[in-house]
Amino acid sequence: MKKRVDKSFIILLSSIAIVLIACIVLLFLACSNQAGSVSKNDTEMQATEKPANDTATQQANTQSQTNSQKLAELEAQLNIHKDIRASFNHGPKTKEYQKYIVLHDTEGEGTAQNVIDYWDSNGNLIAAHFVVNRDGSIWQCVELDNIGHHAGYGNTGHNALYGITEDGRDDMKGSKPLGSSLADYGMNAWSVGIEMVHTSGGGAYNEAQLNALDLLIKYIDTYYGFESTIIDHKAWREGNSDTSPEFAQYLANYKDHRTHN
Ligand SMILES: [Zn+2]
Repeated sequence: MKKRVDKSFIILLSSIAIVLIACIVLLFLACSNQAGSVSKNDTEMQATEKPANDTATQQANTQSQTNSQKLAELEAQLNIHKDIRASFNHGPKTKEYQKYIVLHDTEGEGTAQNVIDYWDSNGNLIAAHFVVNRDGSIWQCVELDNIGHHAGYGNTGHNALYGITEDGRDDMKGSKPLGSSLADYGMNAWSVGIEMVHTSGGGAYNEAQLNALDLLIKYIDTYYGFESTIIDHKAWREGNSDTSPEFAQYLANYKDHRTHN
């Protein structure tokens, strides 16, 4: 009897052990299967995400290549003489601070070179980024990523009207206050200035000069990668003579089509 009990007991123990081992094996299989599926999912995510990232990078690279190609082509087309003067730089004005292109008349017939030399000699530290000669040649004396003093003080309330602020980037060196009705000074820090050699009442603008302005605006748009709003100086400061009445129709065209006709 004793022997038989022992035998049954051993069989029972063995059965329990087999069931336990079977459970452990099943558990192990279940776990490894789940781990496998997780890692498969990871691989799938990477597989779908990675090419997407690559495509985005490729597109960005292609875009910047296209942009720099376009810039290089425009630079070759434009007749720009670079004559950068350090004293005309009043602070940083990178892409995120670019909003406006402000057009001016020089109110004289002196060449761009004369105008820049005059600005440099009078000690006011005033200069536009570009001056466009009557023959269409262009002189640049302030880099696009720097602030030039060409717009000065504008009507009180115009900072808010134009959505700009005086954020301290403009050193305001040489600026002279013009009274309480012309108290806002934000425009220089948010714009590029272009002067055209022309006197108000002095007759038509040359076709070559207007064609050069068309191309220069295209160049500035390409440089920043977006179209800045085009205004003339007297929009910022009411009562200023520039640009002249002769330019009124062209200004309307520039605002609508970014070319003079
Ligand atoms: Zn002006």
